[in-house]
Amino acid sequence: FMEEAGTVQQRVLRHTILFVIATILLSLLIAYFVTKSILSSVSALKNTMSEVTKTGALIKSELAGKNEISDMAAHFNRLVDRLQGQFWLKDGQNALSEEMAGDLTYEELVTKSTHFISRYVDACAGALYAYDEKHSLCELKASYAFVEGKHFSTEFGPGEGVVGQVAVEQKPVLLKGITREDALGKTGTVNEPPRSIYALPLVYEQSLYGVLEVAAFEEINPLKMEFLSLAAPMISTALYTALQGVQIKNLLEATQAANEALEAQTGELQAQSEELHQTSEELQEQNAELTLQREQVEEANRLKSEFLSNMSHELRTPLNSVMALSRVLISQAKDKLSEEELNYLNVIARNGKNLLTLINDILDLAKIEAGRMDVNSKLFSLSSAIETIIERLEVIAEEKGIEIKMEVSDNLPQIQSDEIRVDQILQNLMGNAVKFTEKGHVAITVRSDAENVHIEISDTGIGISEKALPHIFEEFRQVDGTTARQYEGTGLGLTIAYKAAGMLGGDLTVESVLGKGSIFTLTLPLKWQDVIPGPEPFVPRPPVEISPTQKTILVVDDEPEVVAMIAHYLSQVGYFPITATSGAQALELAEKHRPFAITLDVLMPDMDGFEVLQYLKENPVTRDIPTIIISMKDDREVGFALGAVGYITKPVNKDRLIAEINKIGGRSPHAIMV
Ligand code: ADP
Repeated sequence: FMEEAGTVQQRVLRHTILFVIATILLSLLIAYFVTKSILSSVSALKNTMSEVTKTGALIKSELAGKNEISDMAAHFNRLVDRLQGQFWLKDGQNALSEEMAGDLTYEELVTKSTHFISRYVDACAGALYAYDEKHSLCELKASYAFVEGKHFSTEFGPGEGVVGQVAVEQKPVLLKGITREDALGKTGTVNEPPRSIYALPLVYEQSLYGVLEVAAFEEINPLKMEFLSLAAPMISTALYTALQGVQIKNLLEATQAANEALEAQTGELQAQSEELHQTSEELQEQNAELTLQREQVEEANRLKSEFLSNMSHELRTPLNSVMALSRVLISQAKDKLSEEELNYLNVIARNGKNLLTLINDILDLAKIEAGRMDVNSKLFSLSSAIETIIERLEVIAEEKGIEIKMEVSDNLPQIQSDEIRVDQILQNLMGNAVKFTEKGHVAITVRSDAENVHIEISDTGIGISEKALPHIFEEFRQVDGTTARQYEGTGLGLTIAYKAAGMLGGDLTVESVLGKGSIFTLTLPLKWQDVIPGPEPFVPRPPVEISPTQKTILVVDDEPEVVAMIAHYLSQVGYFPITATSGAQALELAEKHRPFAITLDVLMPDMDGFEVLQYLKENPVTRDIPTIIISMKDDREVGFALGAVGYITKPVNKDRLIAEINKIGGRSPHAIMV
């Protein structure tokens, strides 16, 4: 048993050892095979990986099967795919930016980018539409393998077709499985139906610059779409930059043009300024010359006026003597002279008067022209002035057998003007009317409106020819200018009347028909207003009741200043002066007040001092009033011949004046009082 048991034990031990060895061997074998198969897959994968790292080429693993390692290989392959995709995208972007690099024009840019992108995504056709913001239109600007057919539009409005839709929404559109109708109607790229179309907006900073459309005969995969969506902003940016460039270029050109224009203008301005400068210098020179000329003219004018006034004084003084003496002769030596001699004297007196009128006229004209004629404005009745003139003219009119009619509108107001000048104008016009009328009548009509008075002097006389009429107011104009004239005159009357009317703020006009008659119309303002305030007009003091202790002296002179001065001298020593500025006024005052003495100026218009003296001596009321002659020249003899008691030359010396008066009255009132 024991032996048997030992044998069995050894057998079992052997068997056990054998079994263990066999198991170990089998396990090793299995382990070997398993390890070998795993190692080969791993090494294949490792080889592929090391190949990838070594060469950089993205190779995929070809391991297949259904184990962890082939799963890993599949993942590796997907990674490679992703990487390939990424690289493709990157390469594409790089190539596109290279394509668009450089100084490209807008057209080059759209063409190049469209071509590149279409090629890169294997499109069968591609197009780029630029967006025209002004007209809200997408216009075809570049195409790739694009056959433009009559069915395809090169323009899309907002919402029109795929392009228009993309433009409106600013979002990409993908069309898949397109039919022929779609291709014709809705896309801008192809006429054979592709399988898919992808259109996407080109937007830069929220602004649409265009729409890019690609069509492919295959499905456009997500990677291509991704590429397109990456490429779109690049193109938009480039388009923006190109457009900016165009704008900058345009601006630059505009600036350059403006600059050039400015330069041209500056040049022109400079030239103009030089011209102006030159002109201004010339003007200055001319001005200086003009000033000189004006001064010369003023001087000449002054000399002329001075000469005229001297001349007229020189002429008037002897003329006055001639006239006064001839008048004395006519009145005093009437009986001793023959009729013929008396006739000669009358001729002398008449011609003397004519000459005096001419001299007075010339002096008046010179004064008006030199602006030295003062206007002594006062209120007076125009109708009485006209009536007085008619009275003066009546004798001649009756001799000629013509009637003088006068018609004055009711309520004619008094006018405020220079009575002497108005009288002078009317005397001339009415005198002419009578002078130049042989039959018929002379009519004077006076009417007034709110501001003016209109005096119309019409006659049925010889009239004035059409040729002469425009010149009638010119100096020394006479229609009949020959020496054998039928009518006497100087040709100055109308000139003076015209200028005096203007000086009084009025106007003088004429209408005339030769052989039928003339109408002269004088218009005067009811109230004369001086434009430039001149010296205060002299207002003669109104005669007042004279107290017996005062000695009244009548001061007569046509110049108000002289009257004022003499009156002042006289009142200083206690006399009471009353004043007159014309011969007529002097006669009136002398008769009314019978003054103690009269100082009488010789040179006066209208009625000179000698004439006044003569009238004074003829009038029994005034005959005995002592009269002292005041004159520029020594007219003593004529004065005394006419009955003057004293004589003073101008300018009046106060002591001489008082001495002359004392001679007549013994002493001055003051002296008497003392
Ligand atoms: P005159 O001293 O010669 O009258 P005027 O200056 O008063 O000078 O007149 C100038 C000329 O105008 C006159 O010589 C005359 O020819 C013409 N004339 C003036 N008034 C009349 C008139 N009423 N009818 C016709 N001719 C006139």
